[in-house]
Amino acid sequence: MTFRRCFREMLTKNNWVIFVEDVVTTGESVRKTKKAVKTQTEAKILNENPFCIWDRNGGNPQSILQDKANAYDPDECPMCAAGEEIMEVK
Ligand SMILES: [Zn+2]
Repeated sequence: MTFRRCFREMLTKNNWVIFVEDVVTTGESVRKTKKAVKTQTEAKILNENPFCIWDRNGGNPQSILQDKANAYDPDECPMCAAGEEIMEVK
């Protein structure tokens, strides 16, 4: 992940970054963003663990809702292997 120059210029040593996510499943996007902030800007990070509405890993004490939800690769999913239909969430 590379920030555009305008973002790098906004994130000076006098700025704080707060990580907020709607849903965290693996945390990968937050990790990538945090690494980019640390390596490409001088901004300070307020929260190492993101604030989020729903942490599907169930491990973030700053989450509003903690509920374990397993994520599978399509070819390893036990529900797909059992022939269950995929429901679309609306
Ligand atoms: Zn499946």
